[in-house]
Formats: sequence, structure tokens, C-alpha cells
Amino acid sequence: MAGFGFTEEQEMFRETVQRFARREIAPGAKERAKKAERPLELIKKAADQGLVGLAVPQKFGGSEADWVTVGIAVEEMSKADFGLGMLPVLPGLFSILLTRYCSEEMQQRYLPAMARGECSGCFAITEADCGSDVAAIRTKAVRDGDHYIINGEKTGVSGGMDAHIAVAPIKTNPQAGAKGISMFVLPLDLPGVSRSRIPDMGFNQISRGTLFLDNVRLPVEYRISEEGKGFYLIMGQFEVLRVFLSIAALGLAQASLTEAIEYAKIRKAFDRPIVQFEGVSFKIAEHATWIEAARLLCYRTLYLADQGLEHNKESAMCKWFCPVVAVNAIHDSLLIHGHVGYSEEHPVEQRLRDAIGFEMADGTANIMKIIISRQLVGREFLPSNR
Ligand SMILES: Cc1cc2nc3c(=O)[nH]c(=O)nc-3n(C[C@H](O)[C@H](O)[C@H](O)COP(=O)(O)OP(=O)(O)OC[C@H]3O[C@@H](n4cnc5c(N)ncnc54)[C@H](O)[C@@H]3O)c2cc1C
Repeated sequence: MAGFGFTEEQEMFRETVQRFARREIAPGAKERAKKAERPLELIKKAADQGLVGLAVPQKFGGSEADWVTVGIAVEEMSKADFGLGMLPVLPGLFSILLTRYCSEEMQQRYLPAMARGECSGCFAITEADCGSDVAAIRTKAVRDGDHYIINGEKTGVSGGMDAHIAVAPIKTNPQAGAKGISMFVLPLDLPGVSRSRIPDMGFNQISRGTLFLDNVRLPVEYRISEEGKGFYLIMGQFEVLRVFLSIAALGLAQASLTEAIEYAKIRKAFDRPIVQFEGVSFKIAEHATWIEAARLLCYRTLYLADQGLEHNKESAMCKWFCPVVAVNAIHDSLLIHGHVGYSEEHPVEQRLRDAIGFEMADGTANIMKIIISRQLVGREFLPSNR
């Protein structure tokens, strides 16, 4: 970000995405959240605009955009409907994993379809007995000739109900802790895979689910890490994903604050627009400042990622800070709307429920603080040496 801003091209891209999001995505967002279905037609439209394949390599039909540009798309789309806001992200992350670790044939099988929005992926890491402590997973893969037989359960998976493939860490050596984890691509139409929806308070558009894996036979070529080297591979993917989740949360916050400002100008109490009360306008000023500070942290972190620079601590800072900023901003935006904001008919209450999900998805605030402090004070000063 030369001169602490976006390039002219990126500013123009933001305007284009903004127009598309306002015209196509914002209408019907509330209804879609209630239906909790993947809006295939809308995804197709977004893909036609190049938004789904934004970070996919050109040779697979994408436009190979940098992460800052992807962040702009996530921010603008999330303002309209965060359920679609993350569309550009997973195809980009899957591209990195598949182009680094999979055969050309596998890349061709999935990546062009992902860029077209016809194939969706998910990360299936969490299990019923462990979320934060990934090394403790129990799902097992046992080698049987040129296949693995997989048994276990993954839960809490965003997109789990409709994704076509999952990237999943699975134990190939249950005795070896983190060093016994290998990484797999798991097609979710294989015999032995079944799913069950989680009835969430928010995140409905993302259709979280549990994946049951019962004697799933997976060809060896779907193992994408060396045996026992999967833990660090998945951890690497999270760094940039965390920034996008953070930006999506800020998109929800900004949309809510913008609506609160408009409402506060027209709503009158005690014979004047409520925005004239400093109890209201100072809240607006405070949240606008928090959101702006959080955005800058996110874009700087994406800039570091684009430059190939270390950004582990920064991405954890984003993922801790932004959901808190978002929840607080949305909460106050709801209160500025008075009883109207509390109604199911208003988008702000939905956004509050969604934003709370961001406080946990992809690692809780406590886990993010462990990552930050590990880097600042050194691993040897943490309570656990894992
Ligand atoms: C909206 C949403 C989307 C999600 N999407 C996905 C997904 O796509 N794929 C997927 O695999 N998972 C997903 N998850 C699961 C998510 O990654 C986990 O919820 C998260 O990692 C926490 O794990 P847990 O829920 O098992 O909590 P636990 O690990 O049981 O933790 C419970 C509490 O204890 C605290 N805690 C745990 N260990 C420590 C520690 N060492 N120090 C301090 N505090 C600690 C945590 O901060 C938390 O508050 C999603 C969750 C949500 C809510």
C-alpha cells in the first residue's frame, strides 16, 4: 500500500464490487439468511463478475488477484451479505494448497469449477472433543494398499452442508500428537460420508455442519502433505483466512453503523433528531474510529502477505480485535435503532448474531492472544509448551 492507500485500480475495483453488491447481493440478504440455502444463481452471477475466482490462478479461469484486492471484495460483499462475502476466499486458498501439493489432474478437476462457483470447499478441522487444541483430533486414516480408510467426525464446519470437497487434518499416527497429523483433500460425495446441519444462532447462510466419516475409502493421492506433516500445513493456511474473516466482520459492522447514522438523522426524540444528542453521535464517532483502525490493521496484514512477509502475529491480532470491534459496533447500532433494531425484520439483529460467530470461527480470542504473546514474549514463557 504505497502511501498508505489503495492503488487507483483497486479503488476502481472497489466501486465495481460495491455497485454489484448493492444491486445484486443486498436485496434478499435477510430472506436468504432465514432460508439457509446456498444461493446458486447469485453465486453464478458473482462468478461471472470474476469475484469467485478472484484469487485463483489464471490458467484455471481465475484472475490471480493479490490478497489486498481480495480483501476489498470481501469487505464490500460482506457489507451487503456476509454469507456471500467470503466467496472469493476459499477458492484462493484451495488454489494454493492444490497447486502446491496435488497432481495437475487434481488441480484441473477442482480449480476451474471452483473459479466458476460450481464447486465449493470447506476446512474440516474441529471435532466434537477438540477445537482449539487441533493436535488432539481423533479422526483416523489407516493405510490399506493404495487407499486410506477414514473413520471419525468433523464438526462446526462452515459450508459443511453443501461443500463438494473438504481439506481435513486426520491422524495417520494417533500416538504422535501433532506429528501424527496428515492433511487430506476429501471429496464429500464418497460412500461413507454423511452430514448433519448445526442449528446455529447466526451464520445460517454458511450452513455449518457435522461430517460423519464411516469407513471412507480415500485414494492415497488425496493425501496432500507428507505423512505426519499436516499440522503445520493447515496452520499456514489460517493466517490469511483469519484476516478475511476479520474484514467480513468489519463489513457487517460498517453496514450497521451506516444504517444507524441514517436512522439517527431522521428519528426524532425530544423534538430533535437523535443524532444531535452526543450520547448518540459520540457512539457513532467512537465506532467509526474503531472500525477504521481495525480495517487498517487488516489491510496492512494482507499487504505483508502479498509481499511474502511474516504476518502470523498480525493475522492473529486482526482475528482477535476485529470481531470484538464488530460486535460492539453492531450492538450500539442496534441500540441506536431503539426497539426497531431488536425486531427480526431489521438486518442489524441478524448481523449481531453473525458477528458473534466470528469471535470463534477459525480460533477464539484467547487462542489468538496465545499466538500474539508467543511471538512477543517467546514460546518458553507460555503456560503450555505445545
Ligand atoms: C461460526 C463458526 C464457524 C466455524 N467454522 C469452522 C470451520 O469452517 N471449520 C472448522 O473446522 N471449525 C469451524 N468452527 C469451529 C471453531 O474453529 C471452534 O469453535 C474454535 O476453534 C474453538 O473450538 P471449540 O469450540 O471446540 O472450543 P474449545 O477449544 O473447547 O474452547 C472453549 C473455550 O475455552 C477457551 N480455551 C481453550 N483453550 C484455551 C487456552 N489454551 N487458553 C485460554 N483459553 C482457552 C476458548 O477460548 C473457548 O472460549 C466454527 C465455529 C463457529 C462458531
